[in-house]
Amino acid sequence: MPDRFDVIIIGTGAGGGTLARTLAPSGKRILLLERGDYLPREMENWNPAAVFIDGRYISPDTWYDEDGNAFQPQVHYFVGGATKLYGAALYRLRPQDFGELKHVDGIAPAWPLTYEDFEPYYTKAEWLYEVRGKHGEDPTEGPWSKQYPWPAVSHEPRIQQLADDLVKAGYHPFSAPCGIALDEAKRPASLCIRCTWCDGYPCLVHAKSDAETMGVRPALEHDNVTLLTNAQVLRLETDPGGRTVTGVVTAHDGADERFEADVVVVSAGATNSAKLLLASANDAHPNGLANGSDQVGRNYMYHNSKAVVALSKERNDTLFQKTLALNDFYFGADGYAWPVGNIQMVGKSNAEAMKGEEPELTKLAPHRTLDEVAHHAVDFWLTTEDLPLPENRITLDKSGNVHLAYKSSNDEEADRLYHELRTILNHVGMAEHHVLDKNFYMSMDIPVAGVAHQAGTCRFGLDPATSVLDVNCKAHELDNLYVVDTSFFPSIGAVNPALTAIANAIRVGEHLAERLG
Ligand SMILES: Cc1cc2nc3c(=O)[nH]c(=O)nc-3n(C[C@H](O)[C@H](O)[C@H](O)COP(=O)(O)OP(=O)(O)OC[C@H]3O[C@@H](n4cnc5c(N)ncnc54)[C@H](O)[C@@H]3O)c2cc1C
Repeated sequence: MPDRFDVIIIGTGAGGGTLARTLAPSGKRILLLERGDYLPREMENWNPAAVFIDGRYISPDTWYDEDGNAFQPQVHYFVGGATKLYGAALYRLRPQDFGELKHVDGIAPAWPLTYEDFEPYYTKAEWLYEVRGKHGEDPTEGPWSKQYPWPAVSHEPRIQQLADDLVKAGYHPFSAPCGIALDEAKRPASLCIRCTWCDGYPCLVHAKSDAETMGVRPALEHDNVTLLTNAQVLRLETDPGGRTVTGVVTAHDGADERFEADVVVVSAGATNSAKLLLASANDAHPNGLANGSDQVGRNYMYHNSKAVVALSKERNDTLFQKTLALNDFYFGADGYAWPVGNIQMVGKSNAEAMKGEEPELTKLAPHRTLDEVAHHAVDFWLTTEDLPLPENRITLDKSGNVHLAYKSSNDEEADRLYHELRTILNHVGMAEHHVLDKNFYMSMDIPVAGVAHQAGTCRFGLDPATSVLDVNCKAHELDNLYVVDTSFFPSIGAVNPALTAIANAIRVGEHLAERLG
């Protein structure tokens, strides 16, 4: 295998996998370095006990909170990264999210690009990941140049009833955008079997649009693309002046290997990308690579989220529940001026998931009782924007271990969103006293461990004094180093981050194709 390439991409998740697919047709020699392996296709993929109780697909890693307590972060080191387990809810940010947005606890800063700049890439991302949805239903969405490639996934009966009840009560529910290969018109020929196991599970039949199926595998059909799995990048080397990355030092097969490329892209996820830059400190970059601004690792965000289970009197036999969402409170609520957030459905509860999420509280409950509770459960996911606080940050100790300091923000807005959901439930026949705060039985003892939506640790911007990356996601301080994953977010909005990471990877991919000629 050669050790010199045109481009090296470190990590194969939403950022790296999509970038590889975008660059593959260029014919440039591309090396993908992925610390994990392919996620095995096995029956355990769809086994709630294996996924939630045994944590079979959570990769072993130890991080430390700001008090030095060790925890296991919910990270997934596989080809495809976190998208192998994600719910494939693929939302665009609102146009206002790209501007400065005032919140109760401070300001979500403006991006150096506008929604209009991103719109063409959102459209490309929706088509690349074959998203099902319906533009035009959500009153808060921005302009769109092209409808989704596929119609929205239809609601199952209990969710259709919820949608109808919401409309009757004056709300504006819309079809949630989903990246799954479900062609309802052509069933049973379609790949997706519309099961309960999507959100939080790997897809056994590869019907989920994740970064492996939509990014890496199609990229590897090009001879110029090489993937090395079980290859963990340890550090980046530079020339003495510090302007150029000259070597990518990688642990592979029990030995260190060194690769070179004209362009090096770090796509290891918000925490691990910051870790890699910090671990690559040298004489020219004593605080970490590209870190003259002291912003690498700072401004960590992961949403102020809450999962809520409402118990409905009717049974809820829905399999694929994530078809409905509501943005009525995205920018405020009656008598409340601050942004509040997004409400969406989450994967359907089951007894094993409840046990896995809160083993202590459910230990004594008979399985039949939990099963009965789950049959009546209607599950919601509430998301409020958290702020990029500089003190919320990744640092490394002398041994290179990750320390993650995080304090939540906009708790008042999150409480308001919960209040709005409870009010809604009164209007749709799921009375308040039937609401269980899922945190009550979820394993939330170490909240920082829920790193699914991690973002912001190498933000892009116009000013090298306050940002790590320029508008093309190239490090201000180096000529051939890029960061292409959720690290670049200057603020996170209140919708799931993956589509924005995918759209950005396409945008930077097109820039790189032009740069490389
Ligand atoms: C359970 C779950 C559900 C989610 N649901 C949704 C959803 O419905 N919608 C949504 O928008 N988002 C969702 N997300 C979040 C979404 O998956 C992430 O935002 C997205 O995958 C981030 O992309 P990324 O490229 O930044 O990082 P990742 O996708 O995590 O990719 C990083 C890659 O880098 C590799 N890597 C790390 N360090 C190194 C190293 N040193 N050397 C080599 N390789 C390395 C990792 O193994 C990984 O493959 C969910 C996440 C989880 C965990």
